[in-house]
Amino acid sequence: MPDPAAGPTPAGPDPVGLDPAELDPSSWPDFRAAAHRLLDACIDRLEGARTHPWQPVPDAVQQGYAIGAGGSDGGSDEGSGEAAIVERLMRDVLPYGTGNTHPSFWGWVHGTGLASGVLSAMVEATINANCGGRAHGAVWMERAVIDWARQVMGLPEGASGVLVAGTSQATVIALQAARIRALPDLREKGQGGRRLVAYAGAGVHQAAVKALELLGLGRETLRLVATGPRGPDMAALRAAIARDRAAGALPFALIATAGSVDLGAFDDLEAMADLAAQEGLWLHVDGAFGAWTRLAADPWRGLSEGIGRADSIACDFHKWMYVPYDCGLVLMRSEAAHRAAFAARPAYLAAQAAGLGGGDPWFCDYGIDLSRGNRALKVWTALELYGAARMGAAISRNCELAALMGRLVAAAPALALAAPVVSNVCVFSVLAAAPAAQRSAANTAIAQALQLSGQAVFSTTLVDGVTCLRAAITNHRSRAEDVQSAIAAVEAEAARLGG
Ligand SMILES: *Cc1c(COP(=O)(O)O)cnc(C)c1O
Repeated sequence: MPDPAAGPTPAGPDPVGLDPAELDPSSWPDFRAAAHRLLDACIDRLEGARTHPWQPVPDAVQQGYAIGAGGSDGGSDEGSGEAAIVERLMRDVLPYGTGNTHPSFWGWVHGTGLASGVLSAMVEATINANCGGRAHGAVWMERAVIDWARQVMGLPEGASGVLVAGTSQATVIALQAARIRALPDLREKGQGGRRLVAYAGAGVHQAAVKALELLGLGRETLRLVATGPRGPDMAALRAAIARDRAAGALPFALIATAGSVDLGAFDDLEAMADLAAQEGLWLHVDGAFGAWTRLAADPWRGLSEGIGRADSIACDFHKWMYVPYDCGLVLMRSEAAHRAAFAARPAYLAAQAAGLGGGDPWFCDYGIDLSRGNRALKVWTALELYGAARMGAAISRNCELAALMGRLVAAAPALALAAPVVSNVCVFSVLAAAPAAQRSAANTAIAQALQLSGQAVFSTTLVDGVTCLRAAITNHRSRAEDVQSAIAAVEAEAARLGG
């Protein structure tokens, strides 16, 4: 070990035997040439997104990912260093994405990504900001992004937020703040025997259940009531709350859904907010994708009316705001409640009045992570480049395409809608007249066949005991022709299966 007291090592051989710059390129001109080649390949890939559906990863490519294996051709690439890794990125990585950049990808709820993400990713990697706190550009940018989202959602000035991995993490953060409002000594004492309960409609996302499990509350803490087209049965919610209070439990949170994952349905947020106010419950809205109907035209905008009355909102930029993965957001009406749940700064992180150690408040005081990536930049770049109005138009167009799909399904004799289309989700079945088991098997087979053929990506979900085909359209590249040809492909598959 070099003795630090001895001062800088004199010129001569490095005592550890390494060139201090060994992890930087040995030749910046070679690096530059290789990087330009890769950038062109990335742009080609996005420009040609329509010709690149999902495809399975060949065995040789999978095996070539092993560290040191040298890629799918066993390391015989031309050149070395950056030139060789760029070859491998182009050959073994670029072609094997999730396929969500393709215009006929509507599986699960996947955002498409935006070309602006290529620009922001370069800068993000270059500046390598740690957004846990301190005084630098990225944290100011994050505040700007959060404040923009706050206004979109209609939360009051002074509300706070933090960018996170996704709605799942946002939900944990929101429900922890809700729990600490109910039990202010929780951080010191733990929950002990105190019995908290939360309420939601039956279609609530698994993320809420998982959050309650992670917080140690257990999933039985969540009371689920029957849900209709406008959300949970309010009388059933009131009855459940009264029952729990009578039994000595402490109702603390009401979880509303703005855009259900299965059907794209919206709870009546005004009614949920009224109930939360009457009962003194924290209103959390899971708006993972649906919160962004705030940017859409009517009638879709109206679906999320009332979202600004929430105590907390969880949503994603990586789904219906199309920015590249990952980026979620939690917003909180009360900055004090948010801070009360997460602020924790040991001595080595004490705020400074000026210098890099300034910049209070720090984002590490509003969430789980201390070291944090620069998620704001890709959102900021997209918003500044395209503008909120164009984002909103893309969201409206996705809803129009889901409605078109719904009309095509309704008009096809062999197909049947499983539920009305209310936003961007269309769920339907083939073999409309067949028994449930046969319909489920056919829908599952068709989803797989169309994924493998590269024609379209539908996922499946269960509605009334039948596995149905499901399209969740959060894809700014989709056009009417894509929907038409996908439904034609479904009909052709259904005919082959005897429907
Ligand atoms: C996707 C989704 C989630 C989970 O969000 P992640 O960003 O995947 O963690 C929660 N709720 C709904 C309604 C969703 O669609």
